[in-house]
Amino acid sequence: RQKERQTLHEAHAYAAKLYHYLLRNTEAGKPAMDYLRSRGFTDKLIEEFGLGYAPARWDTLVQGLHKQGFEAAEMERGGLLSRKQEGDGFVDRFRDRVMFPIRDGEGKVAAFAGRLLSDGQPKYLNSPESPLFSKSRTLYRLHEARASIRRSRQVVVFEGYVDCIKAWAAGVTNGVASMGTALTAEHAALLRRFAEEAIVCYDGDDAGQAAARKSIPLLEGAGFRVRVSVLPGRMDPDEYISANGGEAFVREMIDGAVSAVKFQLIYLRKSHILLEEDGKIRYLREAVRLVARRDSPTERELLLKELAQEFGVSLDTLKQEVLEVRKQEK
Ligand code: ATP
Ligand code: MN
Ligand code: MN
Ligand code: MN
Repeated sequence: RQKERQTLHEAHAYAAKLYHYLLRNTEAGKPAMDYLRSRGFTDKLIEEFGLGYAPARWDTLVQGLHKQGFEAAEMERGGLLSRKQEGDGFVDRFRDRVMFPIRDGEGKVAAFAGRLLSDGQPKYLNSPESPLFSKSRTLYRLHEARASIRRSRQVVVFEGYVDCIKAWAAGVTNGVASMGTALTAEHAALLRRFAEEAIVCYDGDDAGQAAARKSIPLLEGAGFRVRVSVLPGRMDPDEYISANGGEAFVREMIDGAVSAVKFQLIYLRKSHILLEEDGKIRYLREAVRLVARRDSPTERELLLKELAQEFGVSLDTLKQEVLEVRKQEK
């Protein structure tokens, strides 16, 4: 067990070095370098994040691992190689992809994510579950960001690897990304050991906003104070930074992230037609429910004041409704 983990850690360290070398120093890596540059990756970012390139061949890593004395079947269990579809033998799992190494709690490379240079499916390929790697327990960059998260008592959660990297370049050093899956309760509990506040900074598209909404009870359940970045026009953080710059990103999307309930109200609004009396009433009723669930009387009052003003209803009426909902839900 322990022996196998050690071997797999060594193999991952070797693979990360090989992929990085191939990206930086070979002709085969040039298209990947061009791709990364076209997406605004500097040398500094490529080094800091240890990015690499897995060439468009079937046996780059097969050969390399073999020369290092690693056993192919064991490497398949570790997720670095795949079994040939026909016949015996093994092939590289990652081919023609930009490689993002993923470190585990010990700070050792334990998995990879690989992105295609062009359109195609799947866009990102992750390592499979292995003795070293469990998606539901791993967060991209947690090991590297941990000190910064502790210092700021705050963690920023992204959907994408590139978002996490570009935000780091903009000064957001307390960012992590989930591994192409929804955030789990395990993730939340893990993060809660280092911070009290979580900022959810997901893509502005419908899928991202829906995922952000689902993450709120999960994070609050772990004891986080939650804020959410509302990205305009379906942008993701990487696109926002490219369009508006890192400073604007930090100011508007991180410092300017709204409270969880504000976000829920914004989200709720999108599904109601407020021009119609009917829609207005239904929106207000659901908004009151959201407000009623907040524990802080001050927070409730502030939110109700805004709603009262906007919809031209009296504060007393809204307060009354909140009291009734709170009684019902007790
Ligand atoms: P890029 O900017 O490189 O196009 P992205 O991060 O913006 O990537 P999205 O389509 O927004 O990509 O997806 C968000 C995240 O979901 C990705 O970073 C990746 O972790 C995961 N993901 C996306 N597509 C896939 C896929 N086909 N298989 C597994 N995970 C995926
Ligand atoms: Mn280097
Ligand atoms: Mn995205
Ligand atoms: Mn993107």
